[in-house]
Amino acid sequence: HAKERGKNNFQFYQAEMNARALERLELESDLRHALEQQQFVLHYQPQFLADGRTLTGVEALLRWQHPARGLVPPGDFIPALEELGLVVEVGDWVIGEACRQIAQWQAQGRAVPKVSVNISARQFADGKLAQRIATLLAASGIAPACLELELTESILMQDVGEAMRVLGSLKQLGPSIAIDDFGTGYSSLNYLKQFPIDVLKIDRSFVDGLPQGEQDGQIARAIIAMAHSLGMSVIAEGVENQAQLNFLREHNCDEVQGFYLGRPISASALLAGRQAWG
Ligand code: C2E
Ligand code: MG
Ligand code: MG
Ligand code: MG
Repeated sequence: HAKERGKNNFQFYQAEMNARALERLELESDLRHALEQQQFVLHYQPQFLADGRTLTGVEALLRWQHPARGLVPPGDFIPALEELGLVVEVGDWVIGEACRQIAQWQAQGRAVPKVSVNISARQFADGKLAQRIATLLAASGIAPACLELELTESILMQDVGEAMRVLGSLKQLGPSIAIDDFGTGYSSLNYLKQFPIDVLKIDRSFVDGLPQGEQDGQIARAIIAMAHSLGMSVIAEGVENQAQLNFLREHNCDEVQGFYLGRPISASALLAGRQAWG
């Protein structure tokens, strides 16, 4: 019987493997078609001064409007896009669409000061990112200062010399540079001060424990003090309640972003709510 059961288990295992491989193949061909079928959409999350009222910009966050699965969050498909090498093409679409949207809001008399886009490791290493962005900026007609690029520490620390060169060419175009999820990577502070960085984004894991968590409070205060001493501005991510907002304002954090102030929403929903913000 043991032998029989072993065989059944094996068959079961193989069936499961086949199902998973099939799922993977389906995801791959779905993703390959998603761009041409215009299934990607950007949602926008507002960012405010620490008063919690004055709109300073929005972060563009990618979603996949899948015909069967509904609205798919980026964590479920960006790793696959990276692996398939499609993330550069999709990244171009994100930047172009974000710039087009900023221009449209301006034309509607509902200008949003700036839009931040997330840049993946593959995009940064592509070698032509600055050229691509220059083309997309020119096509949209927006002021380059209306665009912000979000990079993670790990992207910059992979090859510091190359990162310095790419950052230099990006900065020359006019967008501002922000470090996303700051505090979770392994930045060399020595390099950090040499990079042309405008903004540090305090990772939401440090905002979580505010205001009671002693460690989170100290980390947040240290990041704010360091950013300011290096001439950078600082925004806190993942603000979910008034107590966190109060702490950040009292400790001179410049800007805030989080569900308490506004969730990521469609461009039209953002336009509808736009008049509420200074
Ligand atoms: P991120 O850039 O750190 O974006 C912030 C994430 O935190 C977003 O998740 C946002 O919805 C979520 N968030 C904002 N406020 C709060 C809050 O108060 N509480 C909690 N719990 N979460 C909050 P989302 O949209 O699922 O994006 C996840 C990640 O996917 C992003 O993290 C970013 O790394 C990546 N991503 C999103 N769009 C793009 C894109 O266009 N290109 C690339 N390469 N990556 C992207
Ligand atoms: Mg981000
Ligand atoms: Mg982040
Ligand atoms: Mg992130």
